[in-house]
Amino acid sequence: MSHSSFRAILTSIHQMTPRVKQYVLQVDGHTFDYKPGQHTVLSYGRGSDMVARPYTPVTLPGTDKLVLGIKEYEGGAMSGWMDQRTPGDTVSLRALTGNLFLRNLDDDVVFLSTGTGITPMLAMLRHYLQDGTGQATFLYGERTQQDLMFRETLDQLDASHEALTVAYALSHEDWAGRTGHIQLHLDDVLEHTVDTDFYVCGVPQMVVDTQAVLAERGVPDERIHTEGWEENAVNE
Ligand SMILES: Cc1cc2nc3c(=O)[nH]c(=O)nc-3n(C[C@H](O)[C@H](O)[C@H](O)COP(=O)(O)OP(=O)(O)OC[C@H]3O[C@@H](n4cnc5c(N)ncnc54)[C@H](O)[C@@H]3O)c2cc1C
Repeated sequence: MSHSSFRAILTSIHQMTPRVKQYVLQVDGHTFDYKPGQHTVLSYGRGSDMVARPYTPVTLPGTDKLVLGIKEYEGGAMSGWMDQRTPGDTVSLRALTGNLFLRNLDDDVVFLSTGTGITPMLAMLRHYLQDGTGQATFLYGERTQQDLMFRETLDQLDASHEALTVAYALSHEDWAGRTGHIQLHLDDVLEHTVDTDFYVCGVPQMVVDTQAVLAERGVPDERIHTEGWEENAVNE
């Protein structure tokens, strides 16, 4: 195993939504060091049978644990395999890398995500609430209330931080809150944003649409941060 690969023990597994489980992974004696928002790669199997997929911890670095939220896809090679794990099992993972991390702790921030795209956003939100000095807005879109990932955490953070506003939008359920695609709610926050950084992650079409809305409203490119692969995924 290379220097930057680890064998982690699954210390806790929790069903968070009907299709998402939260996993706590521990590498005894190791201290994880990464920029919140970066991802690891989980893998199993060997040689040409190896399956490897990226996942983003929602927690801050500096401990021997990572917390992941993984959605199960029917026939999903990695998410299906993870779904079969039980506490005490081991998993291989790689050192964390990636383009999504906070660029600026002093300007305001807007985090916009859908589905499992929430994972880097939550890590960066925690980082910003710890070290940032401005206002944070967290917009999160899912299909229905029961699909919302980390809702308890987000509601608690919202209630504990004056500098944070959390808003959910549901695309497939009528409820008392916002409905429709999350990017349609951007105008509400754009009204009072100057010198704001935007972080966007989720289904590729949402990321591309959001980039277009922000560009139309005059937000400079360098203020918009994404994983960077979404445009190609939409054009495929
Ligand atoms: C940088 C990065 C970070 C990521 N972080 C997370 C994370 O924190 N949590 C998380 O759950 N996922 C995350 N993902 C997605 C993850 O890497 C896998 O793509 C996902 O778990 C599916 O892998 P699989 O092996 O189970 O499915 P595969 O075997 O690759 O695919 C099986 C089938 O599942 C369906 N499927 C797979 N992915 C999707 C999708 N995104 N949307 C709709 N249908 C799909 C398709 O029908 C596909 O044919 C991240 C991806 C990237 C690029």
